[in-house]
Amino acid sequence: MTMQETRPGAETMESFATQIHMPYTLTPGQAVGVFLAELAQRRLIGSRHGDRVLFPAQDFSGESGEPGEGFVEVPPVGTVASFTTVEGRTLALIQLDGTASSFVHRLVGLGGDEVEIGQRVEAVWSDRPSGTILDLLGFGPVGTAETFVPRDPAEDLAAPFEQVEYTMTLDFEHSYGHYYGSLFDGVKHDRRVRGVKCSSCRKVLLPPRERCDVCFAPTLEWVDVEAVGTIQASSVVHVEFVGQRVKPPYVYAEIVLDGTSTRLIHTVGGLDPHEARTKAGPGARVRAVWSERRTGSLADIDYFEVIDDELGQS
Ligand SMILES: [Zn+2]
Repeated sequence: MTMQETRPGAETMESFATQIHMPYTLTPGQAVGVFLAELAQRRLIGSRHGDRVLFPAQDFSGESGEPGEGFVEVPPVGTVASFTTVEGRTLALIQLDGTASSFVHRLVGLGGDEVEIGQRVEAVWSDRPSGTILDLLGFGPVGTAETFVPRDPAEDLAAPFEQVEYTMTLDFEHSYGHYYGSLFDGVKHDRRVRGVKCSSCRKVLLPPRERCDVCFAPTLEWVDVEAVGTIQASSVVHVEFVGQRVKPPYVYAEIVLDGTSTRLIHTVGGLDPHEARTKAGPGARVRAVWSERRTGSLADIDYFEVIDDELGQS
C-alpha cells in the first residue's frame, strides 16, 4: 500500500461538456394520435369529457379519470393565460376558445414586449407538415379565425398516428465542482489518483467528496492513492447498451484501491472474458493500465489488468 498525504492543487477541470442523443419511439395513444394526425389538416382536435372540452385531445380526463366521449374540432383562436420570454423567444400558456384546459406553445410574430395576459391569439401553421407538434408553428396576432364555429363532434377524422419517431438531443454540461475537478485534473496531468480522508473514521474515499457518507463528518485531507487494488466483485457483461465504451463481452468489476474504503467501478482487460471466473474473481489483485489519451476522466484508465504474480495472495 502506498499513500501519501498532499494538499489539493488548483484544479483546471471545471466541467465536462457533451451531447446526448436519445432516439426513441413515442406511442401517443388514440387521442393524441388523432390530435397529431389532424395538425397536417390544420385542424385542432380536443376531446369531450362531460361538459368540458380538453385540448389537446386526451384519452382520459386528468381530473375525473373519465374516458373521452368524442372528439371536438376547436377554434384556432384563444387567449394568452400567461407567458414567459427567454432569449427573445416567448412561450405562452394558451386557452383555446371553448376549452377547459390551457397548453404551452410558442408565440410567433409577437415580441415579449408586445404580449399581455388576456391577449387574443390565433394559430400559425407550418407550410410543410412534418407529422409533429410543429405542424402548428405557434400562435400569433389574431386574424380571420375569430368567426370559426366549433364542430362538435368533429367529422372525417384522420387515422391516429400510432407511433412517432423522435430523437431528443440534449447539450449537456456537467460541472465537476472542487472535488471531482481536483481528481480529474490530477488524472489528466499526472496520472495521479487522489481521494480524501474522513476527519472522523479516517477512511479514504474515492472519488473525493466534501463529507464522509458513512459518518457525515467533513473530509479534510487529500490522499494520493496508487492505482492498484483488489477486486471485490466482478461480472462478465454480454448485453449491449447505449453509452458503452467497450464492446461486449467484457469484464466489469468493483475494485477497492489499496488504502481506500470505497469501490471503484471499472473494467478488467488483458484476459479472455471466459477466464474471468478463475482469474478476475473477488480477491484478485489488479493495477491500472493507462490510456495514451488524456481526457481528464476515469476513462484515462483503459482498464485494470490482473497482477498474475500476486494472484491468490490477498
Ligand atoms: Zn467517516
